[in-house]
Amino acid sequence: MSDTEADRIELLREIGISPVWRLRDSEAQTVAEHVDEKTDAVVHRVTGTLDPAAAELPRPPSQPASQPAPVADVRPPSGDVATMDWPALKSCVADCRACPLHKDRNRTVFGVGDEAADWLFVGEGPGAEEDRAGEPFVGQAGKLLDNMLDAIRLRRGDNVYIANIVKCRPPGNRNPQAEEAVACAPYLARQIALIKPRLIVALGKVAAVNLLGRDASISSLRGTVHDYQGTPLIVTYHPAYLLRTLPDKAKAWEDLCFAVETMASLCAERPGAD
Ligand code: URA
Ligand code: SF4
Repeated sequence: MSDTEADRIELLREIGISPVWRLRDSEAQTVAEHVDEKTDAVVHRVTGTLDPAAAELPRPPSQPASQPAPVADVRPPSGDVATMDWPALKSCVADCRACPLHKDRNRTVFGVGDEAADWLFVGEGPGAEEDRAGEPFVGQAGKLLDNMLDAIRLRRGDNVYIANIVKCRPPGNRNPQAEEAVACAPYLARQIALIKPRLIVALGKVAAVNLLGRDASISSLRGTVHDYQGTPLIVTYHPAYLLRTLPDKAKAWEDLCFAVETMASLCAERPGAD
């Protein structure tokens, strides 16, 4: 094990993320190990066969069991979002009042990263810390996402872009309502059109359902390459869910390995397109 690898594993331990994940080596990216944090034993080797029996995403404890009332006050974003360049798009989002989520936000959370990335990770919407910082995934779930990226040798900002379905924080960390997601969708669609990622990874059910335009469980969507308007899309668990449901981290690791394999074949099919 190299010093860097040892440092990385030590760092993950310090953060308290268990199990520790790592790719076995950079040449054989499809072969991976799942390392038990306490014993450091390899307890799982990814073979490419995915377990279909994944759990449904539960509602976070902070959320009410009943659905909030439908949103009435939704209007289209101002301007022709579909033709905007990055600066126009950023300023349009910063000023957006197209749905009621604008009322409680401190800051819009546009997205962050490499604007020509091969990898696009899409979450649900900003939480309290993201709303304060103006950047996606900076809280606890964000730390886990960074570790997940690290485990497959990716880093935020380096060939990776991170965005959300909605750019403003849903109050009380509830899920975005369908109307809010629809109101905000043109911005993510334009981000995707500008980035032209090779692969989209949908983090959790809200991202998956909104990007794919149909309701389905995470367990039924995992392990398949889907299509978002011509761009391959893979589904995995949301990091916040994984923080509450440690046993499913192994399944998320399988999904990440599947994503790495998929990216490798996409790059082989279309080398050096960038
Ligand atoms: N959860 C999300 O879905 N997105 C964020 O940016 C932060 C937490
Ligand atoms: Fe506009 Fe999206 Fe914020 Fe709603 S969530 S106000 S559509 S930026």
